[in-house]
Amino acid sequence: MPIRVAILGLGKIARDQHLPSIAVTPGLTIAAVVSRNAALDDVPCFPTLDALLASDCAVDAVALCTPPQVRRAQAACAISAGKHVLLEKPPGATVSEILPLAAAARARGVTLFATWHSRFAAAVEPARAFLANRDLRAVTIVWKEDVRVWHPGQAWIFEPGGLGVFDPGINALSILTRILPRPAFVTAAALDFPANRFAPIAAELTLSDETGLPIRAEFDFLQTGLQTWDIYFETDAGNLVLSSGGAKLLIDGQSVVDDGIAEYITLYKRFADLIARSESDVDLSPLSLVADAFLLGRRRIVTEFED
Ligand code: NAP
Repeated sequence: MPIRVAILGLGKIARDQHLPSIAVTPGLTIAAVVSRNAALDDVPCFPTLDALLASDCAVDAVALCTPPQVRRAQAACAISAGKHVLLEKPPGATVSEILPLAAAARARGVTLFATWHSRFAAAVEPARAFLANRDLRAVTIVWKEDVRVWHPGQAWIFEPGGLGVFDPGINALSILTRILPRPAFVTAAALDFPANRFAPIAAELTLSDETGLPIRAEFDFLQTGLQTWDIYFETDAGNLVLSSGGAKLLIDGQSVVDDGIAEYITLYKRFADLIARSESDVDLSPLSLVADAFLLGRRRIVTEFED
């Protein structure tokens, strides 16, 4: 019997990635949709999670594709009803709200999967293997995209808890925390807040590790033209560039990996595997770095942003 998944929040990522990925993942099937506004043909639709849970529509798992500010309550409700839960990234609006969810999932015997889709990009694990045996000298993250192209009309992103430019930036940090040999921490940050918004539109971070490794990150949400999702690593045995969000790997200018595999297909295979093993996967380290940037960051007020 396949795992019957309900999707909550029929927005951009649900339509672009979750629905098609579930459709091609062995052992999973779409059983329901919870949406305040939209519906799908041939799939039972419910306006709220409570309505789904009160119905006779059987689901085993929920995939929360809603904004981070509303996800904790939905996850808590699903877990208490005995459903496995997949959280889109970032796992929540705060760091501290996630550990009680993990404890509740453990107590209820269900899987909680806090996903980081960028970690499933093709070049991430090869980069990790390369760096494991090298002496790292410096890391630079350049993550710049046009919010008007990628997040049109998503007002939640500039609300408290929406993370602003860290919504994409946390993808870079999810890769960084996966592939660095030692944990990184934030040492300084500058955050640009539009005068009419509650979340930053650009940020510069300085990070390090226990060896003093210099790590810099530039995040920009107003990049027009070429979009940049790149991380540069200088090592004692060559320079590595992880580009296109982790799809491509170049070592000393030579292409080693160039594969736009669908991250979400691998991500859903992992979800099915976690459920089969009765395990959870909850890594809060990328969200902790973002929280620390908010704690430590100098705030600059910049020009108002209109969508
Ligand atoms: P989105 O297009 O705004 O979709 C979110 C959906 O959640 C909305 O369409 C709405 O669906 C529902 N929703 C919005 N506000 C809500 C509220 N207050 N209460 C309950 N439901 C609400 O956003 P998205 O781009 O899909 O992003 C959703 C999450 O996926 C974010 O955490 C984002 O970081 C992550 N993500 C996005 C992308 C991307 O490329 N966009 C990529 C990877 C990950 P209904 O109208 O159906 O209720």
